Amino acid sequence: MAGSGVFAEITDGDEFKYYIEGEWKKSASGKSVSIINPTTRKTQYKVQACTQEEVNKVMEIAKAAQKLWAKTPLWKRAELLHKAAAILKEHKAPIAECLVKEIAKPAKDAVTEVVRSGDLVSYTAEEGVRILGQGTYLVSDSFPGNERTKYCLSSKIPLGVVLAIPPFNYPVNLAVSKLAPALIAGNSIVLKPPTQGAVSALHMVHCFHLAGFPKGLINCVTGKGSEIGDFLTMHPGVNCISFTGGDTGIAISKKAGMIPLQMELGGKDACIVLEDADLDLVAANIIKGGFSYSGQRCTAVKVVLVMESVADDLVAKVNAKVAKLKVGPPEDDCDITAVVSESSANFIEGLVVDAKQKGATFCQEYKREGNLIWPLLLDHVRPDMRIAWEEPFGPVLPVIRITSAEEGIHHCNASNFGLQGCVFTKDINKAMLISDAMETGTVQINSAPARGPDHFPFQGIKDSGIGSQGITNSINMMVKVKSTVINLPCPSYAMG
Ligand code: NAP
Repeated sequence: MAGSGVFAEITDGDEFKYYIEGEWKKSASGKSVSIINPTTRKTQYKVQACTQEEVNKVMEIAKAAQKLWAKTPLWKRAELLHKAAAILKEHKAPIAECLVKEIAKPAKDAVTEVVRSGDLVSYTAEEGVRILGQGTYLVSDSFPGNERTKYCLSSKIPLGVVLAIPPFNYPVNLAVSKLAPALIAGNSIVLKPPTQGAVSALHMVHCFHLAGFPKGLINCVTGKGSEIGDFLTMHPGVNCISFTGGDTGIAISKKAGMIPLQMELGGKDACIVLEDADLDLVAANIIKGGFSYSGQRCTAVKVVLVMESVADDLVAKVNAKVAKLKVGPPEDDCDITAVVSESSANFIEGLVVDAKQKGATFCQEYKREGNLIWPLLLDHVRPDMRIAWEEPFGPVLPVIRITSAEEGIHHCNASNFGLQGCVFTKDINKAMLISDAMETGTVQINSAPARGPDHFPFQGIKDSGIGSQGITNSINMMVKVKSTVINLPCPSYAMG
């Protein structure tokens, strides 16, 4: 059970503690932040509201711990990460329980998130050993005007303290996707988990604690992002920010200092469907892509752009599948569960009301109980409706009918977002041309957008982000190149 057994030390009564210098502590603020169960809308857990002084202390400790960690052999860093991965997987049940209660993740998906996270940590350890063990060796005479008198040896060194801020929808997986690359590369970590999802993240951190990482290397401060976020992201002790979330990331990018930023932000992933597409395949992918975890995924299909000639058939197939989606509590592993908060549900409702007023066709009746919104397909959506452009982050999917592939590409590229997109066609030449034309970080051909597998590069352009994730890219993002140049007095021995 959450907060018991090996996790008992992370709680005090009904409050979860924060993690500093290898210890679980209560904040001196004496204040806590409530985590509301999205399904019951009652307080499920409480976490510490950390103070600015505590953040200062964490930064100081993380800085000192990093210096020693950078000198720890790479194989040893990998060994500890493998250990943490095994402990994480061993304790998948209590962590998944938190995901169900805090963010209403369906029970099976919650377990999958934890197992996937363990695999990500192990893969990162292996990849880090390979790529960080390599450097480059250059000689000077390849550049005009130089003799062979300079030898440049370059290797990768850590950045320092990495501030990791994940979003609510994958609080464990998107936390370890930052922690593991940072640690293998020799950095220390300050984690600020999302408020909804904080308790799952604290359990994950405890698995790293149990693995035996040095004190102070990994730290976790909790509190509302709106209250401690700016203080954290503008803190002079931070050497890199790895953030995943919504528009907040754009604001952080403007405020942060001259440090590397990894920003994975929102998306409005378009699904372009041509006349020759396999409509059964498309319908299955629209259901999986658009409605799994109630549409609360950055790479969810968020707008369908379908050729008018096949639109009626496709909409009928999708509707038949929508009717079979199970709506209800995450504990029962329902397909559609409550969205994360009341404000999120209100926002989604605002998009639905706007679409209604502007004449969209409702394929199902709009139904909401508390934070639970029934799946809804909106047909005949037009560009003047908000839902054509905004990210609902809920189980509501707009369909826009198009008359040419160019029209679909145009709509996709007119978006401020550019995370992923997908195209369905049997013509690989057309698929490649459309992929080239779509201004997104990734295009999937004949499948819904997806972030995994976790070693694939993953990136957004425009308002969808800066930099690239995926295990290899994240490791390379959390290091800098350091060179040593050996200068010789003369190009070579005089040979007899
Ligand atoms: P969010 O509201 O932007 O929050 C993300 C994180 O930022 C949370 O930990 C939040 O903490 C924190 N935060 C809030 N205000 C902050 C501030 N001023 N300074 C620093 N941190 C602050 O996003 P969300 O609602 O959790 O997640 C949904 C969004 O994430 C969607 O837009 C989705 O598309 C995007 N997303 C993107 C990816 C990707 O890889 N591209 C993946 C998943 C999700 P609190 O919870 O305490 O407010």
